[in-house]
Amino acid sequence: MPDIEIRNLTKVYNESGNSIVAVDDVDLTIEDGEFVTLVGPSGCGKTTTLRCVAGLNKPTSGTIKFGDRDVTQKPVQERNIALLFQDIALYPHMSVQENMAYGLKISGFSREERMARVEEAAELLQITDQLKKMPADLSGGQQQRVALGRSLVRDPEIFLFDEPMSDLDAKLKAELRPVIEKVTDEIGCPTLYVTHDQEEAMTMSDRVAVINDGELAQVAPPKEVYDEPASQFVSQFIGQPSTQFFEGNVGAVNGTAELDVGGYEYALARDGLEGWAGEDVRVGLRPQYIRVSDDPDAGIPATHLLDEPLGDATHSFFDTEFGEIVVVTDPDFEGNGGEYGLVFEDDYIQLYDNDSGVRIA
Ligand code: ATP
Repeated sequence: MPDIEIRNLTKVYNESGNSIVAVDDVDLTIEDGEFVTLVGPSGCGKTTTLRCVAGLNKPTSGTIKFGDRDVTQKPVQERNIALLFQDIALYPHMSVQENMAYGLKISGFSREERMARVEEAAELLQITDQLKKMPADLSGGQQQRVALGRSLVRDPEIFLFDEPMSDLDAKLKAELRPVIEKVTDEIGCPTLYVTHDQEEAMTMSDRVAVINDGELAQVAPPKEVYDEPASQFVSQFIGQPSTQFFEGNVGAVNGTAELDVGGYEYALARDGLEGWAGEDVRVGLRPQYIRVSDDPDAGIPATHLLDEPLGDATHSFFDTEFGEIVVVTDPDFEGNGGEYGLVFEDDYIQLYDNDSGVRIA
């Protein structure tokens, strides 16, 4: 299988005299067998990038290669891709089996070959017992498996997914996720998967490509994107609840760096902060790394507002001099509406350049 190589991809739409730069000089390689997810807020250019790779949109500039083959100018039918959208669109008057075999029939495959390929794909997708059913009798998740099966029988070289699960409820998503992972794994094609659902991105991907305003903000394995975000944007976008941000000032740096956040002092054992002594910075901290003390003097004084129990954790909200702060507390935490102290875990404090938002430490 070839890899996907996207070089300097730019796509500008011209809409009633206005130019919209949807994708801005994107460089991304998806290795053979690799699963890469494009994730980012609505309108950031995910779908446009994927449509350029699919051959459904013409890039304004840049190149797209599948292995050695430059496909930038090739139409979609010459790219040998499996393409899956949110909109499933099976033929309603055909059975599952007929839906999966139809493309092969049009291409002139023998009945025997069609049946063999459909059976193989059905087994992989765990829908062998559904082959005689009509699409209307299937759940959304099963329909999406059939749609995937329709692509699989054609022996694709590349998998492209555009929010294939966004119409499914949480339970069906959780069922379909491992199926997609298993199929892409077994076939071994490079996969580009678009979603705005960061849970999908974090659980399914080898690498996550975070995109903001048409530009790649970070491309890295899920854990790295979470633990070592390259910018304030990535830190804020990845992780639930979002990273909390504060204004800070770096003090003396002698091995450890002093950090002042609104009069509260922290000590950061980090390298490379020498040049930042005396500078204002943006301070980020994930709500997982804030501890709630019964003693209001132990940290930032905070009035408990409410708890949202989730089963495996609780999201607890507090009113503080910095505004509302959310903390991930233990599953059995129940605040009493009274006064607490919020303690920041120094080791997990992130620092960002105030102007550029780029991570400093
Ligand atoms: P979403 O998650 O909402 O689907 P996205 O990240 O996939 O968003 P795109 O659909 O790629 O983003 O859109 C990127 C930008 O390009 C947006 O500003 C969008 O309005 C614009 N855009 C997309 N398609 C067109 C088009 N056909 N004509 C003009 N502008 C477009």
